[in-house]
Amino acid sequence: MWPQIILHADMDAFFAAVEQRDRPELKGRPVLIGSTSRRGVVTTASYEARPFGVGSAMSMMKARELCPHAVVVRPRMARYSEISHQVMDIFRDFSPRVEPLSVDEAFLDMTGAEGLFGSPREMGAALKRAVLEQTGLVVSVGAATTKYVAKVASDLEKPDGLVVVPPEEVEAFLHPLPVRRLWGVGPKGEERLHKLGLMTIGDVARLEPSLAASMGSLGAHLFALANGRDPRAVVTNRASKSVGSERTLGEDISGEAAVRPHLLRAADDVAQRLRKHGYRAAGIRVKLKTAQFELHTRQRRLVEPTDVAKSLYEAALTLLPEFDLSRRFRLVGLAAFDLVEEESRQFELFKAGVQSDEHRRRLDTALDAVHDRFGGLSLRRASELDPER
Ligand SMILES: [Mg+2]
Repeated sequence: MWPQIILHADMDAFFAAVEQRDRPELKGRPVLIGSTSRRGVVTTASYEARPFGVGSAMSMMKARELCPHAVVVRPRMARYSEISHQVMDIFRDFSPRVEPLSVDEAFLDMTGAEGLFGSPREMGAALKRAVLEQTGLVVSVGAATTKYVAKVASDLEKPDGLVVVPPEEVEAFLHPLPVRRLWGVGPKGEERLHKLGLMTIGDVARLEPSLAASMGSLGAHLFALANGRDPRAVVTNRASKSVGSERTLGEDISGEAAVRPHLLRAADDVAQRLRKHGYRAAGIRVKLKTAQFELHTRQRRLVEPTDVAKSLYEAALTLLPEFDLSRRFRLVGLAAFDLVEEESRQFELFKAGVQSDEHRRRLDTALDAVHDRFGGLSLRRASELDPER
């Protein structure tokens, strides 16, 4: 018996798939989504590019070396966001309890819907069919009694996967998998677990509970996951939450150079609060109020949800050309919205391997520690003092 039915639905190579659908000449060809600038990274690689060893978070330069005939396409976030809304609406035709994790993936709580849709496998198949018919795109689905197992399952047979894990098969499913598949285990955590001789999820599950507890709260958390226990419920409507920081200025300012340091300060503040509450943001909004009290706002989606100040700041800078910065402003603000839970970031981390945000995060975490000890004014980034840097 299934005490709960949770589906995790995750679009396959979402950005690349949208481009291939919108531009049929790209069908069947390796496509890399990302910026071609010197420091650009691959946001999504189509499945045709992946056999060449190309993956997301890889530098674009490296990716083009590995796969020289790939077509590089600049991301069109507004378009992906539009399709994302269509996809989420299809999910909501299946369940009122949908929890988006990012633009292209969500949990669906399907408990009690057997009468309408049949078995969990039939639910997953119907969902895949509906998404394909209505959008022309392919989604992979995992079905299980917990969010964690459903998420692992959706990833296992990508692309076009449908993996169902009934409650009595959870252990047999999880235990042979590498520890990297545990939610919250990144490259560092993997190394630590390997040093302890723990290679598979089964190794972790068979630990003495007291030994697991001696590894701290993370140990207890991994032990619970390894044994298929994950009490988290599907949470809807979190998209309405946002975290903002704004400041009315001592005197009015004008011009990009004057606005930048205030955005950086706000980004630091917002990122710190996101981390404190365990969220990452998938959207960002810049707010400027003129000396005449007119409010101007611009917003965009982020390529990857983040809780890193520098990433929020850089995204905010890309919005500045949309304002008339020759005006005089009395208030500068920045808000992060479309918040997603921290765990999904860590999950991405062990899926993608290296993540470009990681060293920035470490800097931010160090800043948090200093901030907590000495208060907000003690430490400033050099770039905040010199807006041109
Ligand atoms: Mg995806």
